[in-house]
Amino acid sequence: MPYTYDDQNIFAKILRGEIPCNKVAETEHTLAFHDIAPHAPHHVLVIPKGAYVNYDHFADMASDAEIVDFTRAVGAVCVQLGVCPTNEQAGYRLISNAGPDGMQEVPHLHVHVLAGTRIGPLTA
Ligand code: 5GP
Repeated sequence: MPYTYDDQNIFAKILRGEIPCNKVAETEHTLAFHDIAPHAPHHVLVIPKGAYVNYDHFADMASDAEIVDFTRAVGAVCVQLGVCPTNEQAGYRLISNAGPDGMQEVPHLHVHVLAGTRIGPLTA
């Protein structure tokens, strides 16, 4: 499937250092930062540094090293936030919106890490 990546999207600008972010973590292939308009007490966005529009683009085109790095980084953010569900008080939700039906706003793959409250049921 052909993918068109808009390198003027806001996360591309964050990756290039053109606009600031409140960084949570960084690895070789991944950056995590606080969402500018949080929907939960913890709301972190985890993005690959590569130019991928969404999850299926990433899964199709990214190297194994990028995929492993990204996957581990998402888990590490949950650990860093202290929200891993080791007791009944904690837990988190991961969301990755894609395309119009997913209501994706920024066309650079990102996983939302939402935590710090009872997130509520999934709705379509
Ligand atoms: P989407 O709807 O694409 O899944 O989510 C995009 C997210 O990016 C939204 O939650 C929005 O608040 C966040 N966002 C948009 N612009 C910026 C920005 O300039 N900085 C940060 N940190 N987050 C942003």
